[in-house]
Amino acid sequence: MNHNRLLGALAFMFATVPLCGDQVTGKLDVYWPDVEGGAATLIVTPSGESLLIDTGMPGGRDPGRIIALAKEKAKLTRIDYLVTTHMHIDHFGGAAEVAAVLPIGTVFDNGIPDEDPDGNKADRTWIHRSKPYREMKVGARKIIQPDGPLPMKAGGAGERPSFTVRCIAAKQQISGFKLKQPHNPLCDAPPRKAIDTSDNANSIVLLISFGSFEMFVGGDLTWNVEEKLMCPSNVVGTVDVMQMNHHGLDVSNNPILVKGLAPTVAVMSNGIEKGCGPETFATLKNTPSVQAIYQIHKNLRKDSENNTGAEYIANLEKQCAANWIQLSVDPDAKNYTFSIPATGHQRSFKTR
Ligand SMILES: [Zn+2]
Repeated sequence: MNHNRLLGALAFMFATVPLCGDQVTGKLDVYWPDVEGGAATLIVTPSGESLLIDTGMPGGRDPGRIIALAKEKAKLTRIDYLVTTHMHIDHFGGAAEVAAVLPIGTVFDNGIPDEDPDGNKADRTWIHRSKPYREMKVGARKIIQPDGPLPMKAGGAGERPSFTVRCIAAKQQISGFKLKQPHNPLCDAPPRKAIDTSDNANSIVLLISFGSFEMFVGGDLTWNVEEKLMCPSNVVGTVDVMQMNHHGLDVSNNPILVKGLAPTVAVMSNGIEKGCGPETFATLKNTPSVQAIYQIHKNLRKDSENNTGAEYIANLEKQCAANWIQLSVDPDAKNYTFSIPATGHQRSFKTR
């Protein structure tokens, strides 16, 4: 090959072969970094795009762990999409620090309120707390709409299963995309809790689908709004993996939702004293579909019975090494494997 043709071939390669950070593996990878009772879920799609859902707390630790995982493990050079489920600091707090290191493409959220998102008008700190998020430089900002799929690459050419992320609820508005489901008998006498006036109730709920594999991520959605996803009929369907709402707290994780989603695997982004609620555990134990429960941290409160088996916990000690949980869905989406790389734990499951 002469020099010019070689240069031409190289230029063609660089134009068409994805560079590091766009690695098209055909599989779906999900990482849960340890954000100590906040939330962060990093997804690398079968087409190599990246989606980060929530960013933990500000102050170096959580964004540092997200960035390290994204760069070193997921080999990302940017975050294509960020979804902030709601405006609580343990969910949006790390975003600006992530954006300072890894360029963020499009941010989806419910909009940034002018006052404290929990309606506490006396709290004058909101403008200060939200400033880094408000001012961070990103490619674009969009207010998410229930029912709208995120504009991510579906892949799925030929035999390959396609990938979608769909917003099924935001600001307590529920998508109707599966409304033709039959009446749900669990709705006849729904248990109710006090009305939640905090921003938790407004959480963005995402359904991540890859072929027949489905995963539910609902931020800190609370009890009575969870019921709306299932009553009068289940608008979500069943899923393989449920990221338990609200770190596994008992003001969330209504049994109507958990039983309706009927997950095979539950994942809790809990802290050493936050999440892992006794009612949530009781619900999971009474949900026959559940084969495994993963926790980012061991619950170190006195109610030590509210823990999964030690091998399913990424961090057992108070002073932890910030181990993460990983999920890889095979390119054919028929099987998926959970692992905790730091401990060598691995377990595979069949997609429903
Ligand atoms: Zn939270």
